[in-house]
Amino acid sequence: MDFYKGSKVLVVAAHPDDEILGCGGTLAKALSKNAEVMVMFLGEGVSARFPISEYDSIEFAKQTQTRIKSAKRSLDYLGINRVVFGERLCTQFDTYPLLSLVKEIELQIDKFRPNILLTHNPSEVNIDHRITYEAVEVACRPNREYTPNEIYTFEIPCSGSWTFETTFKPNIFVDIKEFWDIKLKAWSFYSSEERPFPFPRSKIGILTIAQYRGLSCNLEYVEAFKVVRKIC
Ligand SMILES: [Zn+2]
Repeated sequence: MDFYKGSKVLVVAAHPDDEILGCGGTLAKALSKNAEVMVMFLGEGVSARFPISEYDSIEFAKQTQTRIKSAKRSLDYLGINRVVFGERLCTQFDTYPLLSLVKEIELQIDKFRPNILLTHNPSEVNIDHRITYEAVEVACRPNREYTPNEIYTFEIPCSGSWTFETTFKPNIFVDIKEFWDIKLKAWSFYSSEERPFPFPRSKIGILTIAQYRGLSCNLEYVEAFKVVRKIC
């Protein structure tokens, strides 16, 4: 995964916070090498915490706005201003036609024309992550007029940690030692999503994953990916 001036990285994430958890350090690294970065979210990330009868409540609106604000502040801190927010309900992506997700992703691919695309892996508990992967797979059909040359999947603490039997076997390891503090600072804007350790989305949990992946490649801080297709 090489970054250089002129390279374009598109992150297709289900919810605001997935981009930092899955690849925040890698995005900071890409930006440091003058790559362009765009992030698109297909849905929001709070509705699963509410009964359906409370979707029109003040608290629901408040938490939704807080999540969007967190994402804007976090991405602004990283220096990413190309952001697209989706409104699909969290953990309910299976209630939308897959084609609606595919078309949305295709539209952004056609507009931004990334050479690198980063997205979820299919071995996760969260159904939105799995469906995002499936939609990206369809949107990146190699016979389309434009498709990214390199597509990688990332892992998300919690959703990836709690799967019964993981099939995510990373084979790309990005050294983010130099960008570790930046990742943590970017994550700090999502404080509403953090819980104390041993919850995976805790500072210790995030560090544990970075160091565990580092064991595979003799590095201290790593974000791990699986290359699902590379055309070169
Ligand atoms: Zn998510």
